[in-house]
Amino acid sequence: MPKQSFEPKKSFDIGIIPIGDIPQLILDVIAAHIVEYMNLEVRFMPDMAVPIQAWQQSRQQYDAGRVLRCIDGRTRGDVEKLLGVLAVDLFIPIFTHVFGSARQGADCGIVSIYRLADHPQERTAPTPRLLERSAKVAMHEIGHLYDLVHCEDNHCLMHFSGNVEELDQLPVFFCRYCLSFLKQHPK
Ligand SMILES: [Zn+2]
Ligand SMILES: [Zn+2]
Repeated sequence: MPKQSFEPKKSFDIGIIPIGDIPQLILDVIAAHIVEYMNLEVRFMPDMAVPIQAWQQSRQQYDAGRVLRCIDGRTRGDVEKLLGVLAVDLFIPIFTHVFGSARQGADCGIVSIYRLADHPQERTAPTPRLLERSAKVAMHEIGHLYDLVHCEDNHCLMHFSGNVEELDQLPVFFCRYCLSFLKQHPK
């Protein structure tokens, strides 16, 4: 069945959902980066508890795919895509851990600050470095939500990073190819 062409545009592009106890400063910095660098409109959504059904006892970690499915079930109102922010250790089956997760072109993504802090106490009292890393991962995952794939260019935010050292090497912006792709995305 063809999609109705007169479907009204959603009022907000990205809804940020705090999952568990996340410092407001981290949420604000992530939101500011999405607005400023990606030219998207952001609103904060009601928070939710860390979904206990995503806990995997054998790995002592949370299954990123299951967390995403819990977010997907949330009512999103006038928001196009959802970004959950949490502070627990995430995995997907092929990796020991991930900083975040979002399928290409999907409606929701997640970012965890768990491994972005150099010291556990930073998760409650964020340092500038933690704030920058959180914003980078958030923008990377949102790039996936708007159909971007990993970029070969290691001076681009869509370049894959598997550890914080690699993440710190990345700039807080997209290469011109990824940026032009983002700009072409129909809003
Ligand atoms: Zn990625
Ligand atoms: Zn790129």
